[in-house]
Amino acid sequence: MGSLPRLKIKDELRYRKGSTNETENCRACAYFKKEFYEFHREDGRQVEHRCELIGMGESRRYRVREDYKCNRQKPSMEWLSQFKKFQPS
Ligand code: SF4
Repeated sequence: MGSLPRLKIKDELRYRKGSTNETENCRACAYFKKEFYEFHREDGRQVEHRCELIGMGESRRYRVREDYKCNRQKPSMEWLSQFKKFQPS
C-alpha cells in the first residue's frame, strides 16, 4: 500500500516541524482540535488531532501533530492564560 499524497493546504500553510518554543506550535494554537478522533486499530487505541484550517476529515491525511506548526499559527486564549501563570509578575 502506497502512502497517501500530502494535502495541498499543508504546503500552502507551510505545515512543518515545530519550534522548541511550544507557544508557536499546534498544541498552543486556536485552530487546534486535540484528540478529535479516536480509532481502534489492530495495534490498539489511537487518537488523532485535527486543525480547523487544514480540515477535519477522517482520513489520516488531515492528521496534525502537537509539536508541528504552520504560518497561520495563532496562540489560543486558553494557552496564553496558562502561560501567564508562569510569568513573573
Ligand atoms: S493553524 Fe497551523 S499551527 Fe494552528 S493547528 Fe493548524 S496547522 Fe497547527
